[in-house]
Amino acid sequence: MVRVKLINVTKRFGDVVAVNNVSFEVKEGELFTLLGPSGCGKTTTLRLIAGFYKPDLGEIYFDDELINDVPPYKRNTGMVFQNYALWPHMRVFDNVAYGLKLRNWPPRKIIKRVKEMLQLVGLAGKEKRYPSELSGGEQQRVALARALVIEPRVLLLDEPLSNLDAKLRVRMRSEIKKIQKKLGITTIYVTHDQEEALSISDRIAVMNKGRIHQIGDPVEIYENPKDLFVADFIGTTNFIPVRVIEFDKESHKITISIGDQKLITSFYGSVETGSEVICAVRPESLDIFKLDEVPKNRPYIIGKIDLIDFLGKIIRYEVETDFGLIRVDTSEKSLREKFKEGEKVVISLEPESVRIFVK
Ligand code: ATP
Repeated sequence: MVRVKLINVTKRFGDVVAVNNVSFEVKEGELFTLLGPSGCGKTTTLRLIAGFYKPDLGEIYFDDELINDVPPYKRNTGMVFQNYALWPHMRVFDNVAYGLKLRNWPPRKIIKRVKEMLQLVGLAGKEKRYPSELSGGEQQRVALARALVIEPRVLLLDEPLSNLDAKLRVRMRSEIKKIQKKLGITTIYVTHDQEEALSISDRIAVMNKGRIHQIGDPVEIYENPKDLFVADFIGTTNFIPVRVIEFDKESHKITISIGDQKLITSFYGSVETGSEVICAVRPESLDIFKLDEVPKNRPYIIGKIDLIDFLGKIIRYEVETDFGLIRVDTSEKSLREKFKEGEKVVISLEPESVRIFVK
């Protein structure tokens, strides 16, 4: 097991700064995810770690060894690509055995090791198939077995599930997580899918435009996004423009006005009284009531239901308000029949569940 450390790493392609002054440390045995929209620099970061690219600036370490100048084949990383990159003319066995043959393992040991790997990924008995005779999920397992067979120091996974259908993606991600934990292998996982990242990771680095915005465990990232980008990218968030009435630096209490309503919550930054800030709140943190049921002692917003969206486990109400469209999620079955599209309703805010961001 190895620690992977990047210190102030920058990689440019011509005028494009693909990775901009990135630093993080992946602990031994950790599953660390690089998450961000297309083009944010995730794949480039992974390729820098694999050694396919060299940083223009900064340092990359495996434990205490500086590996900037170590060629890829000497880094002993195992990589799984988005399109699997299996050899179509080789059977499953030979695809998996390839790395061991390159390392001159004796044939008997290769057979034993490949068998163990195929068992681990749930492909025992399929050694003689060609990739074209396998489903997408099975091809993904071969790719994983091929990456793991050489006992890499670090496992690198680049959008490994994006070619699979939604159900299989969910199944494969929990299998990858189980295998990763069983082997205890330090793993860096790249995805643009926030749900996948939240589900699979020990920690996540959220990236945008070559920079890291936040590093934290899934709960931290979801519940305490550090800035507007993270709040917007992870899950669904309502953004409500509000004004600062009062801010007490000592107690970190901020009073904001939403129309004629006042809301007091915690805020750990610095902000001017009178300025406009953004109040971010998750749809599941809001409550919806009939007009004559306005809850006391809690700030509220009045609006009109524009759309009721049945999403299976939850119902999402899209409510037109003076502050824009606000989404409210509820999983309460009793509310299903209660509201109609076009109806005027009250949205109630729980002060401690809102986050304040300076624009
Ligand atoms: P995706 O999810 O779409 O793969 P990504 O987050 O992995 O995106 P990268 O592939 O790392 O992003 O790309 C980051 C930026 O660097 C993009 O603007 C991309 O166009 C650019 N880039 C990546 N590789 C190269 C290259 N070999 N030559 C020139 N530009 C590149």
